[in-house]
Amino acid sequence: MQVSTCTCGKIVALHREQCPNCGKSMITIDLGNDAIVLTYTTLYTVPEGFKAPIFLVLVELEQGAKLLCECKNENDLEIGRKGKIVIENEKYYFLGNTK
Ligand SMILES: [Zn+2]
Repeated sequence: MQVSTCTCGKIVALHREQCPNCGKSMITIDLGNDAIVLTYTTLYTVPEGFKAPIFLVLVELEQGAKLLCECKNENDLEIGRKGKIVIENEKYYFLGNTK
């Protein structure tokens, strides 16, 4: 899981050239894939070409980086749920740890 960090303390998930906070160049570092669900929502009205419902989760990674991604399993929609970020077809998904 790659994240970008800035000297101002900002951490964003994914690769970014410029800091969204201060505009300086960011450095990409590798964090583990561990993630915790901060909050979630279910979308029942989805754009054409998507299949409803879509489970969206906001997760926190190591060092406080946050990532909004999809979750495949409704059972993983739980604040504080621990899991991993997996990449499939260049998309990020949250996958809860086995309970
Ligand atoms: Zn910055």
